[in-house]
Amino acid sequence: MTTLLEQYQEVAGPEVIHELTQMARVLKGIKIVHVNSTKTGGGVSEILSTMTQLTTALGLDTSWEVITGNADFFECTKNFHNALQGIKQGVLNPNLLRVYQDTNASNAEQLRQVLENADVVFIHDPQPAALISAFPNRKNKWIWRCHIDASNPHRATWKFLRNFVMQYDASVFSLADFAQPLPHPIYLIPPSIDPLAEKNIELKKEEIASIYSRFELDPNRPMILQVSRFDYFKDPLGVIEAYRLAKKFKHGLQLVLAGGGAPDDPEGEAVLKAVKTAANSDPDIHILYLPSDSHRTINALQRAADIVLQKSIKEGFGLTVTEALWKNKPVIGGNCGGIRLQVINYNTGFLVETPEGAAERTRYLLQNPQVIQEMGERGRRFVLDNFLITRHLRDYFSLIISLFHPIQNNRIEIQKLEVS
Ligand code: UDP
Repeated sequence: MTTLLEQYQEVAGPEVIHELTQMARVLKGIKIVHVNSTKTGGGVSEILSTMTQLTTALGLDTSWEVITGNADFFECTKNFHNALQGIKQGVLNPNLLRVYQDTNASNAEQLRQVLENADVVFIHDPQPAALISAFPNRKNKWIWRCHIDASNPHRATWKFLRNFVMQYDASVFSLADFAQPLPHPIYLIPPSIDPLAEKNIELKKEEIASIYSRFELDPNRPMILQVSRFDYFKDPLGVIEAYRLAKKFKHGLQLVLAGGGAPDDPEGEAVLKAVKTAANSDPDIHILYLPSDSHRTINALQRAADIVLQKSIKEGFGLTVTEALWKNKPVIGGNCGGIRLQVINYNTGFLVETPEGAAERTRYLLQNPQVIQEMGERGRRFVLDNFLITRHLRDYFSLIISLFHPIQNNRIEIQKLEVS
């Protein structure tokens, strides 16, 4: 029976695991807590579920806590999410802001013991950002980890949230473009996928093939796929438009839009309805509303697809892109946010601005299977080198070490991660 670390070593290589083990030795005895607002749905929960396992396997005490809230709270935090990603908002609703602060205050009391006993607290995204206000005399280190494209936030919303974020010891953003001026060190750490997770492990041919009959897809015709929560930022309507344009050149093309909701995203249903209307009962558009634990199904769909699209108009990082590249699929991605870090234009896929652009690249790739294969191989290698959970955890360990041993003159405030 191989240990978890041995399994990671098989994928990521012995040097990577050796380095992590050395760093864990330096950190031995500390307790790390992660806090977010959902156990399922979306990229943050994907990451936290495996990051805590790997951290534990390295001998460190770590846990993952989830705050709770009512519908008003999640309406407020979805507004924050949209506002940080640049969607114009009216005046901030004072009642919702009060719900936000009260919900954080009551969660802080529930989590008080865990948070006070931790040496390092990672707070993910705006939902739990205000927890820190309940710990004015804290002795431990608190880090705000922003997964959102906050490059051009709605000013009033950021001003409100900044009051909380300022109190942290450090912030982490996925890209330099997303970082906002803050009075503490800012770190740039892109997210990652777990190669051992059900979402990403190798699957037998039969399991991949079973997708076709299960979802009434034709294995003899090309299939393009987008996996995403039903969210306007993911531009599912643009994907349908691109599919319709590409189909003029590639008869028989099939589109799968696979998604689900997240408990902290109240807008999903409305977007799903709009997607169904746009699909207009086209038998070759397959809209799959999947339960949150459909990891193997998504894995099989990503492997079965000829090309994966992620035509977002805003994207924090886009784990769906990483997942597809890992499975040797070229990705046609919206030219935004973290997609730009992963889709190296003409290399691991294509960056596009419009449905027309996505359609043209789809047509080109389907006519050039050799290019699909070459791009797919480069994509897999790129993820292996840059976007596995082992690299991500190493960056978090470095961050923790640097917080406990700060640079004397503290001149280096932004540490740029080199992505080769
Ligand atoms: N995902 C899923 N089921 C769905 C839709 C998405 O499991 O119905 C997963 C997807 O495979 C990826 C994550 O949720 O791991 C989405 O992360 P991403 O960074 O792409 O987007 P986010 O939802 O965080 O904006």
